[in-house]
Amino acid sequence: MLDPIKQNNKSVYPIIFPLKYGAMKSVNCYLYDNGSTLTLIDGGIKTPEFMDFFNESLKHYRLSIEDIDQIFLTHHHDDHIGVVNTILSKKQVPIYAHKKAIPRLRFDKVYLQNKIDFFKDLYEEYGCLHLSEKRFEKMNQTLKNRNELKIRGDIYPLQEGDMIEDCKVIEVPGHSPDSVIFYDESVGWQFLGDLVLENISTNALLDFDDNLQLLPTVTQYESSLSKSLPLYTNWVFAGHENIFQHHEKEIENKFERIKKKESRIIEAVGNGYQVTADIAEALYGKRIENLFVFIISEIIGYLEYAISRGKIEKRMINGQWHFSVTG
Ligand SMILES: [Zn+2]
Repeated sequence: MLDPIKQNNKSVYPIIFPLKYGAMKSVNCYLYDNGSTLTLIDGGIKTPEFMDFFNESLKHYRLSIEDIDQIFLTHHHDDHIGVVNTILSKKQVPIYAHKKAIPRLRFDKVYLQNKIDFFKDLYEEYGCLHLSEKRFEKMNQTLKNRNELKIRGDIYPLQEGDMIEDCKVIEVPGHSPDSVIFYDESVGWQFLGDLVLENISTNALLDFDDNLQLLPTVTQYESSLSKSLPLYTNWVFAGHENIFQHHEKEIENKFERIKKKESRIIEAVGNGYQVTADIAEALYGKRIENLFVFIISEIIGYLEYAISRGKIEKRMINGQWHFSVTG
């Protein structure tokens, strides 16, 4: 376990659970003590092993669940809310998350049904419905079990510019529509969820807006990186991988990788791969079976990104998008 990071009268107690999770090697959450209150930032995954590690970490830092005053969530994904209900069953504390996180954290029935409908139409138009069986099984399971999964506590909505404790709330959509940074400027600490993960490529996951339209996730992700970059930063506390200090270098690296990924997609389309599934197969082969959500998010995300930059165009043929290089 790591030593706490201390500055002025403030501390962060990192909880870095070593686990192979997709391409990542840990699942993280943090206890943030600003001198007067103790905040849990994110809640890890929902497994007995994570819960044990969480309890051991508290003990190691001479803290207990009773000491936690509130919970901040950087976004709604499963791997960031795992222990929240367990904590709430022992102590009712307020939860703060972006306003768009609320229906997602409540596992709202209309939201979940919209999600299923949205992805069904999307995958059909992008010709990859035949690869998505497992994803729909999981989404239907979530809809069925929504009462057990939903966060059982008071959730308070946040938005751009809010100040909470000593942290400024900065909206950084792209990884998810509800992603935020909690930024304590006085010590230069960024709690930024999955926006910038050390050594991990870009990770903008497909999602939809209030009108059930596909969001320009890669464009959003890129401009969110630009919001994080100029912030005076001593430490980055991310949702996975190591905590780190070389923040500018890491973000410059992400910008380069966005350009590289865009070039790869344009090249594949230029080589004659016209439909999404063929592009995915050309770039990732069989790996798509186990990493469907990540790979399809990348392919569709970057196709749309290249379209928005005038490098690729798309045409609907027999209900399916076909792509070609512009010019
Ligand atoms: Zn995550």
